[in-house]
Amino acid sequence: MNTPNIQLGLIGYPLEHTYSKLLHEQALQSLGYRGQYKLWEIPPEKNAAKQLKARISAVRKGEVRGMNVTIPHKKRIVPYLDTLSESAKGIGAVNTIYQNQEKGLVVGENTDAPAFWTDLQSLLKTGEKTGTALVLGAGGAARAVCYQLIKKGWLVLVAARNFTQAEELTRDMGTVPEGQASPLSLLEDDLPEGEPLQLVVNATSAGMHPEVNQSPWPAGWQLPSHAAVYDLVYNPPLTAFNKQAMEAGLKTKNGLGMLVEQAALAFEYWMDCPAPREIMKRAVQKG
Ligand code: NAP
Repeated sequence: MNTPNIQLGLIGYPLEHTYSKLLHEQALQSLGYRGQYKLWEIPPEKNAAKQLKARISAVRKGEVRGMNVTIPHKKRIVPYLDTLSESAKGIGAVNTIYQNQEKGLVVGENTDAPAFWTDLQSLLKTGEKTGTALVLGAGGAARAVCYQLIKKGWLVLVAARNFTQAEELTRDMGTVPEGQASPLSLLEDDLPEGEPLQLVVNATSAGMHPEVNQSPWPAGWQLPSHAAVYDLVYNPPLTAFNKQAMEAGLKTKNGLGMLVEQAALAFEYWMDCPAPREIMKRAVQKG
């Protein structure tokens, strides 16, 4: 039988360290599909808009089944899409693109938020499913994490080096009840006293390969005594921040489970069948 040759891919820059190609090509192969996951490097400078539109047009024409989007285009691709899912709209950033077959529209989705939530569950004790979380960073990933935590009823403190960005993030979360999200400066503020934290999330790129010795945690801050620590960074598997938290006796997790889950959810939008999560997990553990 002549099986279709499925084209998937990733838009971003730079893309040399991505695990996505490995994850999706193994998933396709294990289900008996022919296909490739291509890496489309689009530098942020001149002509980026033209190239982003060309990639979207390939999805519209059916030449490409679906795409992921990563740094630095998660926000800047939004104006060129036909429509956004409710969560992508709330987050203001997209990491997955597919075509809605019924309506013919090219849709922007964000699978980082539900993937974070799914993977976080194994770190939280029963009875700790809401509380106060400190999110470090105010980039695209932090927006997805905050959106999801707020949706699930958590109080969120967003701490970033760039205070204006943290303020913008909390403001953009829009409909949240006043006081559910507050900004902090990683450089100038202290941790608010008397605010017990149940969760700390590193959504900065500090500690990511090759800067493996960096931790986002400010030198003058004391780690909370009972919080669980989730680091979105997965390369290296043991980050400097998680090591610091483990040494302080805290429970930790890296972002590998989230990486697999965000890819699995994207794969399901594109292929309309359950993703082979175990195979995808093994692919990145080996890779
Ligand atoms: P981004 O939009 O570029 O944002 C990066 C954020 O990190 C910015 O707020 C930046 O602050 C901050 N930052 C960088 N270095 C820092 C440092 N040394 N100390 C304090 N803050 C620092 O990137 P992103 O898309 O949000 O991704 C952030 C991280 O999450 C990356 O490592 C990415 O690989 C990871 N991620 C993981 C998954 C997963 O599935 N596990 C999914 C998405 C993202 P400035 O603006 O001040 O530079």
